[in-house]
Amino acid sequence: MKMSDLEKEYGLAQYTGRILYEEYSTSLKKRVAELVAAFSEFDRTGVPGIPYITAWSHNDNVMWYEFAGRKFTGLFGCSAQELPAVFREAVVDHRIFHRTEVEAGVSETVRNPEELSGVRSGMRAEVTEKGHVEADYKVSLSEELDHVWFKDRARVETFSKEQISISFGFLTDVTNEMVHKDLLEQIGYFDQLTNLPNRVIMHRSLELKIAEYERNQIDDFVFLMMDIDHFKVVNDSYGHRAGDYILSTLAQVLNDVRRRSDEVGRFGGEEFYGVAIGDIYEGREFAERVRRRVEVTPFVFDEQMIPLTISIGVVAASELGNLIEEDLIETADRRLYRAKQYGRNQVVSETISL
Ligand code: GH3
Ligand code: MG
Ligand code: MG
Repeated sequence: MKMSDLEKEYGLAQYTGRILYEEYSTSLKKRVAELVAAFSEFDRTGVPGIPYITAWSHNDNVMWYEFAGRKFTGLFGCSAQELPAVFREAVVDHRIFHRTEVEAGVSETVRNPEELSGVRSGMRAEVTEKGHVEADYKVSLSEELDHVWFKDRARVETFSKEQISISFGFLTDVTNEMVHKDLLEQIGYFDQLTNLPNRVIMHRSLELKIAEYERNQIDDFVFLMMDIDHFKVVNDSYGHRAGDYILSTLAQVLNDVRRRSDEVGRFGGEEFYGVAIGDIYEGREFAERVRRRVEVTPFVFDEQMIPLTISIGVVAASELGNLIEEDLIETADRRLYRAKQYGRNQVVSETISL
């Protein structure tokens, strides 16, 4: 079927694609023309969202737009032909949703742009098989503007004889929802009572530090496990609210004592952790500073002065032959236990058997 005939039948003023001009089957061309006509109409009526149609050639793995809503090219300030490259450049974060069964739930994969280019063709194969796409894109439209999040929902149809898939759907601006979601996630990373990072962040920090250490970007780092002495007695004698007050005040003390690059957080209950760059001597110094400050800080609740001390176990990454996060935590924990056995209110930084 010729382009002129298709134009007569469908009215394709906004057509910017290729399929209708090239040697493809009439069924593929008719389908594309039909969709372009419908999507042009959507676009003209100004429906919310950005209608688009892309095509992907399996043979040479090339993707292009058969149709792009005016808002789309307007936002990116480019032609429909330039869109694939411009859009790819603008994406700073990408989350694709895999639905196994409609009711079975959704899993989410977050990929940065480099990872994305590596897996793109695999993803295309997957959506081709499933017949739909759902993904979120975080896009940077210009240096001056804030990021925009788009939700992409589309159907995919594959024409196996031509080895062409077309995907057609809408991009919707979901910036507000995503900013909200990010905030909620952040709340999950911080402890409500003390406002300190929680264990999720600790795992991430340790993962990063271990990677830096193994790439020789840092010479050494230390991990501290800190546990309040006889905290149960504090709760029993002064009440649970006094206990909570102590925990949040102690968090301020820890934040005060740490240097900018040191990290402190709540491990759980009355246990806190610290991560700092430096060797075991520097780690010991950091721990001693904390221990002394806790000892001399007046914790006053309901006009009652509550004496408080803390015990700390310290370990340096370089002490472990095989640097594994669990071993680091376990060693620090064992040393903390020794500090308790030796009489509390002290720092233990080496493994000595009693
Ligand atoms: P040790 O010196 O051996 O560490 O003794 P301890 O009493 O500090 O240790 P234990 O593990 O026996 O008790 C810890 C207490 O910490 C018990 C628990 O009720 C209290 N605790 C944990 N989380 C909180 C909290 O969020 N608020 C309050 N008020 N107390 C808490
Ligand atoms: Mg404890
Ligand atoms: Mg304790």
